[in-house]
Amino acid sequence: MTQDLFRSDAYLRECEAKVLRIEEGGIVLDRTVFYPQGGGQAGDSGSLGGPNGLAIAIADSRKAKDERGKPTADILHVPAPDQEAALAALRPGDTVVARIDWERRHKLMRFHTATHLLCHLVPQPVDGCSITPEYARLDFHMTDPLDKDALTAGLARLVAEAHALEVGAISDAELDANPALVKSMSVQPPRGSGQVRTIRIGGADDGARIDYQPCGGTHVANTREIGAVVVSKIEKKSAHTRRVVLGWAA
Ligand SMILES: [Zn+2]
Repeated sequence: MTQDLFRSDAYLRECEAKVLRIEEGGIVLDRTVFYPQGGGQAGDSGSLGGPNGLAIAIADSRKAKDERGKPTADILHVPAPDQEAALAALRPGDTVVARIDWERRHKLMRFHTATHLLCHLVPQPVDGCSITPEYARLDFHMTDPLDKDALTAGLARLVAEAHALEVGAISDAELDANPALVKSMSVQPPRGSGQVRTIRIGGADDGARIDYQPCGGTHVANTREIGAVVVSKIEKKSAHTRRVVLGWAA
């Protein structure tokens, strides 16, 4: 099992870790700061620094899967294509420094948090979501048209208002009793421990709540940090789907 340090602190850029296994799909560590692709959010890239100056470029990270294709609690660090020589020198038990490409991850955190704001601006069910460093898109299940400029202005307002994000937790039982809390855009947080992580934007008790949902993704601490995002495109994907595409302001 890989301890997922990014869930308690999304701002960790590196950590020391021990190599548990090296398999065809990637390297499994006992702990990591690498977020594995999931919930529409791209996996992290970066590097592993090992003994004697060993350096392995990591192109992606994924959840490991068991023989039935179900995700396990292991996280695979997928090496870049040309890393065979460095990989051959790596051994289980080695201590490495796992370091993410922070600039790329920070963009993913900013876009991911912006998709929570979009859920507030467009209070409709979500059919799908994809978050990359270059763009993010969210598919709303709806038939009414959406106004690109109004959404961009709404995002700019929520970013400027500098709302703090609050990480909390509810029990599995509370979540089961409130199924409406789960929007399909959320990165489903791991269940089974009895507690599910929640993300709240805006005050809890003052009626100013902006978004509240269980989510296992990586977020910025304050909406101010999202910076200048724009709705670059709105597409009618189907009769019942409106796709909102976010980009960085030019
Ligand atoms: Zn989230």
